[in-house]
Amino acid sequence: MAIVVGSGAGGATVAKELAFAGHRVLLIEKGPEISEEDAYRHYANVDAGVKLMRTCCLGGTTMVSAGNAMRCLENELRGFGIDLTSEFAEVEQELGVQELPDALIGDGTRRLMDAATRLGLPVRKMPKFIDPGRCCQDGRCSFGCPAQARWNAARFVDAAREHGAQVLTGKSVTGILTRGGQVRGVLCGSQEYHDDLVVVAAGALETPRLIGSIGIPTSSLFCDTFASIGGVFPDIRFNQDVPMGAYVTQKSSLILTHYSRQLVATLQGAGHTVEDGDVLGMMVKIADEDTGLVGDTIEKGVTGNDARRLTEGSAVAGAILAEAGADPSTFVTLPLRGSHPGGTARIGVSVDARLMTRITGLYVCDASVLPATPGAPPILTLIALAKYAVKRM
Ligand SMILES: Cc1cc2nc3c(=O)[nH]c(=O)nc-3n(C[C@H](O)[C@H](O)[C@H](O)COP(=O)(O)OP(=O)(O)OC[C@H]3O[C@@H](n4cnc5c(N)ncnc54)[C@H](O)[C@@H]3O)c2cc1C
Repeated sequence: MAIVVGSGAGGATVAKELAFAGHRVLLIEKGPEISEEDAYRHYANVDAGVKLMRTCCLGGTTMVSAGNAMRCLENELRGFGIDLTSEFAEVEQELGVQELPDALIGDGTRRLMDAATRLGLPVRKMPKFIDPGRCCQDGRCSFGCPAQARWNAARFVDAAREHGAQVLTGKSVTGILTRGGQVRGVLCGSQEYHDDLVVVAAGALETPRLIGSIGIPTSSLFCDTFASIGGVFPDIRFNQDVPMGAYVTQKSSLILTHYSRQLVATLQGAGHTVEDGDVLGMMVKIADEDTGLVGDTIEKGVTGNDARRLTEGSAVAGAILAEAGADPSTFVTLPLRGSHPGGTARIGVSVDARLMTRITGLYVCDASVLPATPGAPPILTLIALAKYAVKRM
């Protein structure tokens, strides 16, 4: 048997791949099993300076993803001898990755794309793991898809179950059992579950605590810090566009079309008479410096280099917004957030190129193992890496 801790992008993939390979699997997830459209109720964000975003439920943070599907860190992983070429192709096929058809690109997104083109910026539609035939275009991907159009990791959990995996929800793993350099199982409070193959995939904010408590070295945190910028554009109804439908790659940032309800509240607070459909926005996401810390507390600040990259990106995002017709005199930004926490149990520090720790049979397979800040959506890479690791377990 194998025990998998956590059911997000990493854990659900490991559980499915092991179950398909004929192993008995026990998957233990701290959060509850939910219906997709309720995912927003399970945000468990951490205010660490930069606000770190995640959800704790079956399917993990994939339950609120925007469906963005980019390959990232291919070269960095190759530096460790990990070539994911075939796994990426497999994942893209399995998740049906494709750009959205023009009919699903809303007016706000189209205006931002046209504005970026007029400014000479290389704008592209975002590849998505969203089924265009099912998409209901209500813009609520990051609340939880109400139309089952966007892939999420709970689907992999279902597939694992169909192949015999046992799934426990609402149960937190509190410790790892070892003896003589070999893993023996996990602890959930006073209850023990025994096995000689354990895969920790509790996410970058929990995994280092679990493995750190048995003396495995851990590493510093990154989160792809992002700024949200928006301004007034009456009746544009950008809130109903599929979020992050297009992006512009800059040297020091990734700039995405982006709506946030918090922009509306902030504009209202600044005295503007706006409703949900009156705001146009963009996100500036950077590959932040990995200076964060997960210990008894979690800390993640902004370095001078981070601030410079965010400022450069924000200037470009502001220019696109203004060119697209948003009123520059109304522009606001939100407090900094990070939606890709990672790096806290890296390849080369906590695990080897098979993702195994120095404890035989104890693996890590989630965003903790990423060797560098992606500055881009990591789900595709996490799934590909999990497939790669399972083949070597
Ligand atoms: C709003 C939002 C939108 C996003 N959109 C995208 C996108 O479009 N594309 C993309 O590539 N990325 C996106 N991301 C990032 C992506 O969702 C995460 O990087 C990815 O899901 C991380 O996978 P993971 O396996 O490391 O952790 P998670 O998916 O967070 O899974 C960890 C799981 O472990 C469980 N757990 C924690 N502790 C324990 C414990 N002690 N015992 C048992 N279980 C435990 C948690 O409850 C959770 O279910 C987005 C993130 C956010 C917040």
